[in-house]
Amino acid sequence: MIYLDNAASAPVHPKALAAAMPFITENFANPSSAHTLGREARLAVIEAREQCAAALGAQPEEIYFTSGGTESDNLAVFSALSVGDKHKIITTEIEHPAVLNACKELQRRGSDVVRISPDGEGIVHAEDIAAAIDDDTAMVSVMAANNETGAIQPIADISELCRQKGVLFHTDAVQAVGSIPLDMRLLEVDMLSVSAHKIGGIKGAGLLYARKGTPISPMIFGGGQERGIRSGTENAAAIAALGAAITEICRDIPERRRRLSRLRDMLIVKLEKIPHSRLNGSRTERLCSNVNFSFADIDGEALVMSLDLIGVFASTASACSAGKQHRSHVLSAMGIDKKWLDGSLRLTLSEHNTEEEIVTAADIIAECVARQRKG
Ligand code: PLP
Repeated sequence: MIYLDNAASAPVHPKALAAAMPFITENFANPSSAHTLGREARLAVIEAREQCAAALGAQPEEIYFTSGGTESDNLAVFSALSVGDKHKIITTEIEHPAVLNACKELQRRGSDVVRISPDGEGIVHAEDIAAAIDDDTAMVSVMAANNETGAIQPIADISELCRQKGVLFHTDAVQAVGSIPLDMRLLEVDMLSVSAHKIGGIKGAGLLYARKGTPISPMIFGGGQERGIRSGTENAAAIAALGAAITEICRDIPERRRRLSRLRDMLIVKLEKIPHSRLNGSRTERLCSNVNFSFADIDGEALVMSLDLIGVFASTASACSAGKQHRSHVLSAMGIDKKWLDGSLRLTLSEHNTEEEIVTAADIIAECVARQRKG
């Protein structure tokens, strides 16, 4: 098996598994219980909060645990318009559905939503955001890196602009954590979303970073966990795993980038040799883990299925839409010619991938494309 779908879900890091295990097996207690077991579970949540804060250059009290990236994005988007009297949110056409559909719901409820287009390389420009900001703008939400094309967005510039204009800035960093440095002491980011299962943690946990003083309001009401922002018994096992996973993936970002970008570039060079192929997304401003190609006259879904039969696991555009198959909204927003839209293939790497796997996968992809073209 060659697993090249790490942006959909990555392998659980052994240290994350080790951190989670005690809270699945011998210590099943509720972290709110006053007895010894409960206090131990609570300590694990406290430690994980400190680990997450340290990895992001944040304070522990700025970390709110959630069930994952989708919930964190929703919490940020709905908070921005539920506090204050501003009605407008600015986002981009290339966001994950967790942001796009939350904004659609806000629009249905009467808010004003502006969606900024990217350029042909999949990058959104700060000038376009600046032109859209007005006195009624509550928040700007721009992802740190795109999940389909790996295009890294200029969030340092955009967040600075938002700070100057007095507008909140949220970034969905689900795909960026561990690939680009995200230090909240250096960036003017007000809110940032993270998902555990993309970075070596377990599904069912994530976090929203909210800078001290940022108004956030709960979507889930109950026992008042997470300082009233996210009620519900804490998933101690998955939260402990998230703390360990984020620590590991952020331990040496430059080294991780060096290793993965070498494999990424090797794969790009090989796939470019396939006739009528194109790399989607920026070549330079690109996550070290992402390769996204289109092949003319190819059905991407059929290609993914034929790769699957040989044991190569990949996706067309993204794998996060509950099995839905559709043309990529990201590639469409980039203005890519129709002939490239149906035959896209996303290959996303992790530290587990080897050079040998990359060479084998590229050969198999070339074979499958040629076979499909022959009919
Ligand atoms: N945001 C981005 C950029 C993603 O890639 C994903 C999932 O692929 C999400 C949000 C949703 O995260 P989760 O699966 O934890 O809900």
